[in-house]
Amino acid sequence: MSCYRVRVSGLKDGAHINTFEINNQFFELFVNNEAFNFTGKAEVTVVVKSFNTEIKIKTLGILNTKCDICASKIEAPISNSHTFLIKESPSPQPSTDEIIYINKGQFFINSSQYIYESIVLSIPTNINHNMKGIKDKCDKEMIQLINKYSKPVITTDPRWDKLKKIKDIK
Ligand SMILES: [Zn+2]
Repeated sequence: MSCYRVRVSGLKDGAHINTFEINNQFFELFVNNEAFNFTGKAEVTVVVKSFNTEIKIKTLGILNTKCDICASKIEAPISNSHTFLIKESPSPQPSTDEIIYINKGQFFINSSQYIYESIVLSIPTNINHNMKGIKDKCDKEMIQLINKYSKPVITTDPRWDKLKKIKDIK
């Protein structure tokens, strides 16, 4: 994991860019998580402006998966970008959607978790050949076969189901 280490403290003013190649092996770092067939890169830029430090996590690449309509191969371009503020905290604190806390005297962070989240959050819940930026069209023969042999099922995104449950508890 140390290869996704990024220096966030003790830097000169300006933008400090770190680029990482991301492939399937990257996802093996995350136990209990879905594996993705993804090839792309992550650009982690630390911007230091006097007393303010920001970190921008930009991810982009191609996700190889199956079309939700025709079930044939699809190469979906995905990208995401998110900026966090870096703040020093006297005691360890979990990061939020906006702030990554570092300890006093901490110079580096491991950016892999943030890269992972950036990619996962950029994957659309429904991927199909009608999406913008997809070269190929749906396989019509496959659709006919699917329609012939399958009954309509209502599919929901499991992530949304989880969220709904959380809301219900509250
Ligand atoms: Zn399709």
